[in-house]
Amino acid sequence: MLRVGLTGGIGAGKSTVAGALADLGAVIVDADRIAREVVEPGSEGLAELAAAFGPTVIAADGSLDRAALAARAFADDESRLTLNSILHPRIGARTQEYVQAAPADGILVQDIPLIVEGGMGAAFDLVVVVHVDEAERLRRLTEYRGMEESDVRARMAAQATVEQRRAAADVWLDNGGAPGAIVEDVRTLWIERLIPFERNISEQSGVIAASDIVEANPEWAGQARRAIARLGLATGGRSLAIEHVGPTSVPGQPARDCLDILVTIADAATAQELSAILGGAGFPVDSGATTPDLADLQARAVGNSYRLHRGCDPLRPVAVHLISPA
Ligand code: ADP
Repeated sequence: MLRVGLTGGIGAGKSTVAGALADLGAVIVDADRIAREVVEPGSEGLAELAAAFGPTVIAADGSLDRAALAARAFADDESRLTLNSILHPRIGARTQEYVQAAPADGILVQDIPLIVEGGMGAAFDLVVVVHVDEAERLRRLTEYRGMEESDVRARMAAQATVEQRRAAADVWLDNGGAPGAIVEDVRTLWIERLIPFERNISEQSGVIAASDIVEANPEWAGQARRAIARLGLATGGRSLAIEHVGPTSVPGQPARDCLDILVTIADAATAQELSAILGGAGFPVDSGATTPDLADLQARAVGNSYRLHRGCDPLRPVAVHLISPA
């Protein structure tokens, strides 16, 4: 399964992109919908809210009175914590149910407005950010969705900046053009990246970069940071260090378009244990390779045990070098 995180500011076009991905065959898990489901009329979540904040948070028709809840739950920090302690575990559990119900060879897209704000990017194989400038988002939301300008502005101010979104984005979809244009971009993304990415994960087949030397790409550092964050989450403290090494780590230097990431492990047993874990996280072992081909890695590998894993993203080859005491 490929797990894609889809995010962007309010009005950027997440729902539009999610709809296009659903048409292509993706399984969509919508965080906003789950947030509503866990407090729907008659739910345990709604009953807990009423127990914590008083029966007035339930409207006459049995639904959640959001204004009444906001007045109480956002009154002070303690109330806010109580609200989160009721909602977050339920949202998390329900999300897990949807994720587990998705087919093993599926492409799962989680539409989550706050991936960047919540620092959740590393939990996904790929983060897709939909972007439109603020003025155009404001226009679309007030014109097509009937929102108040002050409401839109307040929400935008509370969300991540463009720079923060850029740093988190593996894929940047510009939705500033006509609606048809973004749908075409989504189709290209699906065919050229998501389908082969999923197949590579399912087949545990890592991607090997082309051998030609290319101009230095200023994006390499950011791409390496995101790979390191994913590997950090997957190894969960079992690694001593995770570093971007090799030619692509030298700014401005032409190189083969492969990010070399060095993972240092305390002992061989942990390295062995990590082998399957990294495979599950989309970085399968390359069983054909036995020796590192970079000079600095070769030096570090002397007297140590060495394993090579590779990423599965067809458009972003990553070589993960695991070194542990023999
Ligand atoms: P989000 O889910 O990110 O809040 P939506 O997908 O709902 O954003 O898009 C916000 C509004 O803009 C919707 O009314 C949608 O129909 C409209 N919209 C989306 N993409 C475009 C586009 N390329 N051009 C014009 N309007 C668009």
